[in-house]
Amino acid sequence: MNLTEVPVLVVGAGPAGLTTAITLARYGVETLLVERRSEQSTLPRATAVSTRSMEIIRSFGLEQQVRAGEVEVEWDGWIAETLASKSGITMPVGYPSREQAARVSPTAPASVPQDHLEPVLLSHLRTFPAAHIRFGTELLALEQDAKAVTATLRDRESQAIHAVRARYVVAADGAHSTVRATLGIPMEGPDDLVTHSTVLFHAPLWEAVGPRCYGLYIITHPQAAGIFVPLGAGDRWLYGQELTDGQDLLENATDAELTDLLRTASGVPDLEPWIERVSHFSFAAQIASTYREGRVFLAGDAAHRVTPRGGTGMNTAIHDGYDLGWKLAWISRGWAARRLLDTYESERRPVGLHNTARSADPNGSHLDADAGLAADLGGRIPHAWLCQDSDLVSTLDLVGPGLTLLTDGYGGSWRSAIPSSHAPIQVHGLDEATAQVLGIGDGGAVLVRPDGKPVVSWPTSVADPGAALAASLDRLAQGEVTGPASPHTAVLVAS
Ligand SMILES: Cc1cc2nc3c(=O)[nH]c(=O)nc-3n(C[C@H](O)[C@H](O)[C@H](O)COP(=O)(O)OP(=O)(O)OC[C@H]3O[C@@H](n4cnc5c(N)ncnc54)[C@H](O)[C@@H]3O)c2cc1C
Repeated sequence: MNLTEVPVLVVGAGPAGLTTAITLARYGVETLLVERRSEQSTLPRATAVSTRSMEIIRSFGLEQQVRAGEVEVEWDGWIAETLASKSGITMPVGYPSREQAARVSPTAPASVPQDHLEPVLLSHLRTFPAAHIRFGTELLALEQDAKAVTATLRDRESQAIHAVRARYVVAADGAHSTVRATLGIPMEGPDDLVTHSTVLFHAPLWEAVGPRCYGLYIITHPQAAGIFVPLGAGDRWLYGQELTDGQDLLENATDAELTDLLRTASGVPDLEPWIERVSHFSFAAQIASTYREGRVFLAGDAAHRVTPRGGTGMNTAIHDGYDLGWKLAWISRGWAARRLLDTYESERRPVGLHNTARSADPNGSHLDADAGLAADLGGRIPHAWLCQDSDLVSTLDLVGPGLTLLTDGYGGSWRSAIPSSHAPIQVHGLDEATAQVLGIGDGGAVLVRPDGKPVVSWPTSVADPGAALAASLDRLAQGEVTGPASPHTAVLVAS
């Protein structure tokens, strides 16, 4: 392909950029992904992959590959004096237990470091002919006219500069986004809110932990207050401190002092840690004043910067990328009017605002599992297992790339009434029990978007299914595919 003209240019190969590019590539939309780094980051960073993120990953067929890097944990914070303390208390962090997850989802959250997840996503992206990936390539500048965006790219090895014309650009270039700065989009909210000093190390700590396997350990020892985070099932761990005024960075400690600190915090007096890296990170709680400027869209950390409280940074980046990916794909395939792209900001920015505010709250990690799940699942249809061609599938597995009409029973009156539509429509009949879980009664149906959000629900049969569908499809073709405004808002119910 001539890479001086592409339908979509994605800048940045972190979770937001990779998810956007995979979603577009699955629709066959030619996409160029450029990444400044010559290779992927080896920093573990985020470890909490949420239920909805795992659903997206499962829909890509990557669940097993991602879980190969996981450690099975309880999704609470464990508060104790040391890691080895046998007594402690749990704190809900907005994640479901295994039992809760099994009731609402075909999958469950995973504790996997980001440097395991990102290579899985990249390898998958490489399997699509429509995806063109350039590492060591940096975006320097861009300008847009009525028809396209012209981006100036530099090959970091050869220093060669070339221009690419793209119909749309996705800025997934992280917290210090060049694209956002070039467009002059201001960030709102406090900068440098929290500084975390962290030690990345290897030590056989699971022996000290015993049966208390949690995603996060909050250590209260007066000489070693901080957190431990397991980085997979091996012996790699992170110890971190949220610095208070005047507290020294861990980088300034000697190896002997760090070893002492880790021994105290872990409660293992003869621990011999191998220290991989000591660093510090400043976190902000900021959101871009707009997620869009013409043909350019901000996604992930480029659009919102959060502190680690609540662990929403990477998950929101994945969800942004998925949302933008299918909407850009629909426009590229001619399945909806360009107005559809307006719904990216109207749907995703409220989520960004919610997470930013949560992360600014010193108690923001603490959240009831039900509230966390509702926010994470974002109003997609309920999950239920059903039998299809002698396989057990989830209602979420029925959702296709275009529109999906789920009907009570065979849904004959709906099937025979389907009008022509820009987006393809798949119809699935449901048994009575499954239909009930989805709020569909006798003769009813629900029309669902590719991200599982219901667009219109007909709880029972309607007099003229053809007219009901035609009216909805007209609105959809105009780009009105807005699902519930928030997870707490009821589905639009046709009268
Ligand atoms: C220490 C640490 C701990 C964290 N812990 C958690 C956690 O527990 N849970 C959680 O959910 N989140 C956590 N996060 C946040 C999480 O890592 C980020 O939210 C996530 O990586 C955002 O993904 P992204 O794709 O938006 O941006 P990034 O992952 O930052 O990716 C942006 C990419 O764009 C590239 N790039 C930048 N500029 C250019 C350019 N001009 N041209 C080309 N490429 C460019 C960068 O090299 C980078 O690869 C943590 C972050 C850190 C630093």
